[in-house]
Amino acid sequence: MVWSFITSMFRLAKRATSIREMEASLARNERIFRSSHGYGYFDWDLANKRILWSGGYWRYLGYSEDDAEKISFSAGYYDYVHPDDVHRLREIVHKLLKSETLIGEAIYRVRRKNGGYVWTEVRADTTRDDKGWVTHINGIALDISKQKQIQQALLVSEERHARIIEASNDGIWEWVVADKGFQFTRRCWEHLGYNDTSEIMDLNQAPLEAWRERMHPDDLKRFDKILGAHIRQQGPFDVEYRIRGKNDKWFWIRARGKMIFNEHGEPVRMSGSNMDITELKLAEERVLKAKDQAEHANQTKSEFLSSMSHEFRTPLNAILGYSQILTLDKQLSREQKLHVQEITRAGDTLSRLIKDCLDLARIEAGYLSFIYKNVKPTQLIEYCLTLVKKQAASRAISLSFDPVEFANFSLNTDQTRLEQILLNLISNSVKYNRERGRVNIICTIVDDSYFRITVQDTGKGIPLHRQSHIFQAFNRLGEENSTIEGSGVGLVITQRLIQHMGGRIGFSSEEGVGSRFWIDLPLQSSLNDRLIGSQDSAINDDAVPELLCTSPRRLLYVEDSLTNQRMMQHLLSRYPQIHLELANDALKGLFYARTERPDVIIMDINLPSMTGYEALEVLQADLATAHIPVIALSANAMSHDVEKGLQAGFMHYLTKPLELRRLIEVLNQHL
Ligand code: ADP
Repeated sequence: MVWSFITSMFRLAKRATSIREMEASLARNERIFRSSHGYGYFDWDLANKRILWSGGYWRYLGYSEDDAEKISFSAGYYDYVHPDDVHRLREIVHKLLKSETLIGEAIYRVRRKNGGYVWTEVRADTTRDDKGWVTHINGIALDISKQKQIQQALLVSEERHARIIEASNDGIWEWVVADKGFQFTRRCWEHLGYNDTSEIMDLNQAPLEAWRERMHPDDLKRFDKILGAHIRQQGPFDVEYRIRGKNDKWFWIRARGKMIFNEHGEPVRMSGSNMDITELKLAEERVLKAKDQAEHANQTKSEFLSSMSHEFRTPLNAILGYSQILTLDKQLSREQKLHVQEITRAGDTLSRLIKDCLDLARIEAGYLSFIYKNVKPTQLIEYCLTLVKKQAASRAISLSFDPVEFANFSLNTDQTRLEQILLNLISNSVKYNRERGRVNIICTIVDDSYFRITVQDTGKGIPLHRQSHIFQAFNRLGEENSTIEGSGVGLVITQRLIQHMGGRIGFSSEEGVGSRFWIDLPLQSSLNDRLIGSQDSAINDDAVPELLCTSPRRLLYVEDSLTNQRMMQHLLSRYPQIHLELANDALKGLFYARTERPDVIIMDINLPSMTGYEALEVLQADLATAHIPVIALSANAMSHDVEKGLQAGFMHYLTKPLELRRLIEVLNQHL
C-alpha cells in the first residue's frame, strides 16, 4: 500500500516535472518565435478557415494585436498580397490541395501596415485525413527582400554590362582551360562580316579552330608567343592581328584578355575582348603613306632649291665678279663707273633675293647652323648703317646712333645672323621712311637679361588692321605694287633667326607717325665679358684687301668654267706675288699638284669626270700632297653643302658669287 502510494506519488511528481519541462520548452519556443522578426510560422486550419500565426513576422510588417483577427481569417489573407501576385499564389495553393505537389513554395509580396510591400518566401507542407483530404497547411514565411535586392542589383549590373559591351562594339570571348571550351559572342563574328548566325554555323567547325584558321599566319605566331608569355605570367595579353573574314576580306583585330589562375598558379579561365581596328589601321597606313610622301616632297624641294641656287649663283658669280674687277679699274670713266655700280646693285639685289628665299626654305626645313662667338653689337650696327648710308642720303633721311654707352660691350652670338637681322630692320626703316625722315637706333638692357636694339623710324607706319600679318611670309602688307623693293620675307626670316638665337622680336607702329622694331638678345654671360676678341672683320671699306705675304706663292685653281677661271685671273692680277695655275679638270689638277706642289689649291666641286670631293680624297691619300691646304669654291651654297665640305677635309668652303675680301682673308691664313 505504502509502496503503491509512493510509486503513484513518484509518478505524479514525474508527470509534473515533464509538464513543467514542456511548459518551459513552449515558453522558450514562443520567445524564439517572437524574436524572429523576419519569420512567421503558420498553421492553416482549412475546416475552420483560420490561420494560426506565431513568430515575429506580422509584427515585423507593422501589424499589432488589433489586426490579429483579420490576419487569422484565411479568406481575407489575399487582401494582404500584392495584386500582381495573387493569381500565382492561388494557383500554388490549389495545386497543393489537389496533391499535385507535396511541398508548396511561393514567392510573393505582402503588404506592410504602412504601405509598401515585403518580398516573402513561403514554404508549406500539408496534413491530411484518412481519406487524403488536406486538413491543415502549415509552414514558414520569411522576408527575402534583401536577397531580392541583391538579385535586382545583379540584374541591373548584368544589363549594364551587356549595354556597355553592346555600345562598345567589342566582341567578348571566354576560354575555360580545363574543358578546352571556347565561347565567342556573336559580335566577334560580326567583326569579320558574318551577320547571320546560319553563316557562322555553316562554318561547321569548332569556333576556336575556325577562328585560328582564319588568322594571318605571320600574326598567328606572334599571337601565340604573346599568349604563351601571358600564361606564364610574363606579360599582358594585348595583341593586334589580321584575320580573314567573309569574302576573303582582311580585318584587323585588337585582342585583350586576362587569365585567372588557381591557388597553385595554374591557368583556369581566360576572358577578353576583341576590338575591330580595321579602320584605325587603314587610317594609320594612310598617315604613314602621307608622311612618306611629305618627306619625299620635302627632300625633292630641298634638292630643287639646292640645284636652283647652284644654277643662279654660277652666272651671278660672273656678273658680280666682273663688276668687282671693273670697280677696281682706275681707267673707267665716271659714267662707266656708274653703270658698273648699277650692275653691282642689281646683282646684289638678285643675290639677296635668292639668299632670302633659300634662307626661308632652310629655316622652314630646320636646316640652320649657328656659329657663336663674341660680337660687338655696336660695331655691327655701325657697319649696317654704312651699308644703308647712301640709300638714306638719297632721300635725305638722317641716321642717328650713339654707340658710346655700349662701345665695348660684346655679346656671345652669331655675327652673320645678327648682321642679317639688323640689316633687315635698318634697311626697312629707311625703305619705308618718308623723305627727310629720321632713323634712330638705341641700345638698352631690359629685364636684366636681354640686350635690346631698337630701330625707330618716322615713316609711314603700318595700319593697325595689317599689323597681325607682319610676320607672314611673302606678305608685303599692301606694298606689293609700290616702287619700294622687297619680297615680304625679311621680317619672317628675322623673327625665326632671333628665336633660334634665344631672343625675341617686337614692334609698335602708328600710321603716319612711324614704327619701332626691337630685338632682344639674351645676355647670358656676355655682361661680364666686355672685352672682345680680334675677330671683328665686319667693318669694311672699298679699298682692295691686303694680301699679307709678299714672297712668291703658287696657287692652283681647279675649275672647268672658263668664265670663272678668267675672273680668278683678273681678281688675283693685282697680287703679283701670286702665281696662279689653272686646271680645267680634276685629273690635270692632281697631276700639277703632285709634280709642282703648289702652296694652296682652290677646288671647284662640280667637275667633269671626277668631283672636287674625289680629287680631295686622292690629294689627302698621297703623301706628296696631303699637306697642301685645299679650299673649296662652289656654287653649292646650302649650309649642309658647307658642312659636308668641311667634314670631307676642305680647309675652307667658299661660295659663289665669290667675294674678293673673303678670298684674301682665307689666303692670308694659308700663305
Ligand atoms: P619686304 O621685303 O617687303 O620689306 P619685310 O618682311 O621686311 O619684307 O617686311 C614686310 C612688310 O612689313 C613690308 O612689305 C612693309 O609693308 C612692312 N614693314 C616692314 N618694316 C616696316 C617699317 N619700318 N615701316 C613700315 N612698314 C614696314
